[in-house]
Order: sequence, then structure tokens, then C-alpha cells
Amino acid sequence: MAIDFTLSDEQKALQAGARTFAREVLCGVRDTIAPISRPEGRFFATFPCYEKMAAAGFVHALFPRQYGGSGMSAVDFALAAEELAAVDINVPTTLLGTGLGMEPILGFGSEEQKRRWIGEILEQPAERLAAFAFTEVSGGANFDCPDPSAGVRTTARRDGDQWVINGQKHYTTNGSGWDGKGSHLLTVVCRTDLRLPPAESLAVIVVPGSTPGVDVVGYLDTAGHRAVVSPRIHFNDVRVPAANILGKPGNGAAICRHAFSWTAAMIGAACTGVMRAAFDVAFEFARTDKRSGTVPVIEHQNVGYMLADLKMRIEAARYLTWKACHQLDHMQRGNDELAIMTKIYASELCVQVVYDAMRLVGVDSYTDLSPLSGLMQDALCFPLYDGGNMGVRRRQLHTMFRRPGYDPMASAEGR
Ligand SMILES: Cc1cc2nc3c(=O)[nH]c(=O)nc-3n(C[C@H](O)[C@H](O)[C@H](O)COP(=O)(O)OP(=O)(O)OC[C@H]3O[C@@H](n4cnc5c(N)ncnc54)[C@H](O)[C@@H]3O)c2cc1C
Repeated sequence: MAIDFTLSDEQKALQAGARTFAREVLCGVRDTIAPISRPEGRFFATFPCYEKMAAAGFVHALFPRQYGGSGMSAVDFALAAEELAAVDINVPTTLLGTGLGMEPILGFGSEEQKRRWIGEILEQPAERLAAFAFTEVSGGANFDCPDPSAGVRTTARRDGDQWVINGQKHYTTNGSGWDGKGSHLLTVVCRTDLRLPPAESLAVIVVPGSTPGVDVVGYLDTAGHRAVVSPRIHFNDVRVPAANILGKPGNGAAICRHAFSWTAAMIGAACTGVMRAAFDVAFEFARTDKRSGTVPVIEHQNVGYMLADLKMRIEAARYLTWKACHQLDHMQRGNDELAIMTKIYASELCVQVVYDAMRLVGVDSYTDLSPLSGLMQDALCFPLYDGGNMGVRRRQLHTMFRRPGYDPMASAEGR
């Protein structure tokens, strides 16, 4: 089979549609949120944009056709995501947050669970958000530490036909919902018995945000991704039916990994979008600004060479992202090595590319005269979140490499 990066007519239309949507709807987000001081206020102010995103079918794109979605492949989703992220990172990340929150259900839910909870989200795709409550206030990297005394501390105790959940999470994107009272549902990473290792006790349980005891107790303010909401959520004797568990106790690590492999690939697309935005700023500056000299600065060799370096790196990140998405689509998540590599590579490259664009533009890039300072704030998040590159993502690769029989060519050859 030939290697072919040519987009189909449908993919070109999807890409063009997403580009138009971003330019018409998302272009106003920056100005809308700029004067708002509270983080949750900035998030709430983006609802009209998210509503339009839902109306344009982006929430439906998260789900397979048999559950009412439009069954978009990871490759197609990445094509659209790059276009959205090139204009605004906030509203697309809210969409990603719902995708992340639903991934455990998609990957490990029973037929009945999938129909029910996907159906509920799609009944009101704008209003109903999902959230993945993974990160503990004490950290996330060691969530599956084999020592039972470490790792996830949130507990789910079985009481008759109910789970009783107690614990404290933060960074739960979307977890506040649009009204500050809780998202429509949360997939909560917890331990069913703190005496047992995670292989026997780590679990993911679906919790409707309206359940008594789900308390949004505050919000973290972030340097970038300014309108992505990062609530602190406490679970105080939260009771849900026993049937809300996904799979069984002990499946938790596999569920988390499954959820974070999809986001890893998508973050490659988001990083490509942000890098593109930085390149556009630098390119426009280089072609038009003389900085009190006699010629536009693009005529200087150093500026031209820097543009070449920026452009090469962006192209490389895009095609690695496509390959990682292709692998997710064609191997039913059987191999997520490329997705993890994409997350690490594209996120760190994005910080470098935005910084180099700033070096090219010079001191004004550090001020509100230029969008680059805001893009840098957004870029800095990519290596740190979704499983930090140091505490989580490189460790995932390290674990693979240490496995007996690891085949270094398997990813490249689609095995
Ligand atoms: C905008 C945003 C959105 C987010 N959305 C969500 C969300 O929806 N849901 C959610 O649950 N979380 C979310 N997070 C949190 C995010 O996923 C974190 O990446 C994750 O919780 C792990 O954090 P960490 O990698 O920094 O690990 P931490 O546990 O905080 O570790 C911090 C550092 O300690 C070191 N370290 C710790 N343990 C080890 C080890 N065993 N080996 C080597 N080094 C180690 C590493 O240097 C690591 O970087 C979000 C964060 C942000 C900023």
C-alpha cells in the first residue's frame, strides 16, 4: 500500500469548515476573556462559543455512530483540531475535556453504559460537559504506584448496592460545569480498597455532577489556557449505584492509559495549531516591518533562516501527529507509542517554536503589542498537562522499552 498524505475531498471540506468556524467564532475569545479576573468567569464567558461549537457538530464528532455521534476518526479530528487551536486554545480544550471525560466510558463501558451516558451528553451537547477526575491534590504521576500506601487516595467503598466515594481532586477540566455546580458527569479515578495494590483496586466510577457530596470548592488560576476551567473538587460521601463502575476494580490503570492515549495524539494537533499561529505572527512581522532599518527584516539572513527552522519543525509535528492518529484508528489503541511520543515531541517543540518566534519578533513580542506572549503562556501548558512529560509520558516510554521483547520497529511498521 502506498504512503499517501493526500487529503480526501471530505477531509479538505472538514478542514476548511473548521478553519472558517475558528475565524468566525473563536477569533473573539481572547478579547472576551481579557478583562475578566476570575478563572471561572473567563470559562463561563466562553459558553456562547462552545454552544456554537456543539451546534457545528464537534461534540457529536467525539462519539461513534452507533451511539448517536458522527464517528469521526482520530485523523479527521486532528485535522479539525489544528484549525481550531490555531485561533483559540480555550474552547477546543473544553471539547477535549469532555472527550477525555467520556473516553473511559467509550473504552471500558458496557453497551448499556455507553448508550446511556453518551445519549445523555448528546441530548444537550452544549450544556452537558463531561470531566475526567484523575489528578489528586497530592499529585498525579504516581497514580498507579504498586505500593498500596501510595498513589490515588480517593476511595470508593462498597455499601450494599452503592459506591461511597471520598477524596479530593483538582485540575478537573470542565468539572464545575457551566453553572459552577458540577459537570453533567465525572469519571472518577479511585481505589476500591487502599490495602490492595492498584492492579486489584484502581477503578473508574461514573458520578453525575449533581450527586450530593460533589462539591466544587475552588478554582486554580493558570498562566495560559486562561478560559479552561481547573476546579478543585471534593467528593464527600458521594453515593452512586454499584453499576456505575466501568469494568471492575483493577481496570483503572488500563482505563487511564486508554483515555490519555487519545488526548496525547490530539495534543499534537493542538500544538501544531499554536505553532502555526506563532509562525504566522513572525512571518507577517518579517515581511512587513523594517524596525527603523531600510528593508523588511526578512531580508536579513538570520531572520530568513529562523523562519525556515520554525516551518520545518511545524511540518514535522503535523505529520507525526497524523501518523499517531492513523495508528490509533487502525490498531484500536493496541499501540499508543506514537501517540505518547507525539505528545512529548510536539509539546516541547511548541514551546521552542513560540520562543523562537518571539526571538525573531524581538522585545515587542513580550508585551501586549503582540499575541506571542499569550501564545507562550498557552504553549507552556502542553509539556506539563495531560500527564507531564517528565513524571508520566517519558516514564510510559521507559516502561515500554524495558519490556522483554520490545520491538523498536513495531510503531513505524504499524504493528
Ligand atoms: C490546563 C490543564 C488541564 C488539565 N486537565 C486535567 C483533567 O481534565 N483531569 C485531570 O485529572 N487532570 C488534569 N490536569 C492535570 C494534568 O493531567 C497533570 O499532568 C497530571 O495530573 C500529572 O501531573 P504531573 O505529571 O505534573 O505529576 P505530579 O504528580 O504533579 O508530579 C510532578 C513532578 O514530580 C516528578 N515526579 C513525580 N513522580 C515521579 C516519578 N515516579 N518518576 C519521575 N518523576 C516523578 C516529575 O518531575 C513530575 O513532573 C490538567 C492540568 C492543566 C494545567
